[in-house]
Amino acid sequence: MTRADHILLLAGTFEARQLAKQLADRFAGARVTASFAGVVKDLPDLGVPTRVGGFGGVAGLSNFLRSEDVTLVIDATHPYAAQMSRNASEACQALRLPLIRLERSTWTALPDDDWMHFGSMRDAAQALPEDARAFLAVGRKDIWQFTWRGDICCLARMIEAPRQPLPAGWDLILQRPQQSSSEEAGLLRKHGITHVVTKNSGGGRSYAKIEAARLLKLPVFMIDRPQLPEAETAPDLTGVLKKAQDLMDRKKF
Ligand code: NAP
Repeated sequence: MTRADHILLLAGTFEARQLAKQLADRFAGARVTASFAGVVKDLPDLGVPTRVGGFGGVAGLSNFLRSEDVTLVIDATHPYAAQMSRNASEACQALRLPLIRLERSTWTALPDDDWMHFGSMRDAAQALPEDARAFLAVGRKDIWQFTWRGDICCLARMIEAPRQPLPAGWDLILQRPQQSSSEEAGLLRKHGITHVVTKNSGGGRSYAKIEAARLLKLPVFMIDRPQLPEAETAPDLTGVLKKAQDLMDRKKF
């Protein structure tokens, strides 16, 4: 990699935090810039120059890539940040820039798990029975897709408060996912939860709620991942770093 190399890291996940440092260490001669959507206010310090906020669609991203002389894009956004991933794919294809997407493996049900799969949040919301007391671990941006179900009681957990108030009778916890399944099970028990509604985020950091549902034999409403365009993918940090290194070794950019 030469001095002119510039890696744009589309951040937003825990892995992106680790990647920023490792990219900077491994490709010491290159610039590494991290980018956040700016959905949460409390952004971590990644130890590399960081920009915050949308680029302005494919056109805005393409302008950024050209004007900043970006030579490699690494998409380490959340698996449900489909718009950003699609934009990155389209812009990189048009500019013939290499793109590596970090794509965590999905969670899969064990034989005794009671999972129902949904193609959209709205479908999952629709399917919750009237007597449900659902635990909604869907995030602040998507909670509105459930709030029309004012006829059921829900416990919503998210990192920062939603823009709109939740329906009467709903509970809100501002908290990151807990790391132990017994803590998660305790929370579900305390609130009399009957259904767990979640994205299939993959990875270990929010898996404890899935284990808790298993422990308590609760049904899980799993909102399946959005379709993303074909891309060079790696399931973890090691894989991304290896692909970045391979690109450099093959002098593809
Ligand atoms: P999205 O729908 O893919 O992104 C919407 C827009 O936000 C993008 O078109 C882009 O705006 C901007 N954006 C997203 N990620 C960006 C980044 N890293 N740097 C600069 N701009 C970025 O994704 P989302 O709205 O952020 O989230 C969708 C779902 O994923 C939600 O359920 C959310 O909870 C979950 N999620 C996302 C992230 C993430 O990494 N973005 C992290 C945790 C959870 P422009 O078109 O203007 O460029």
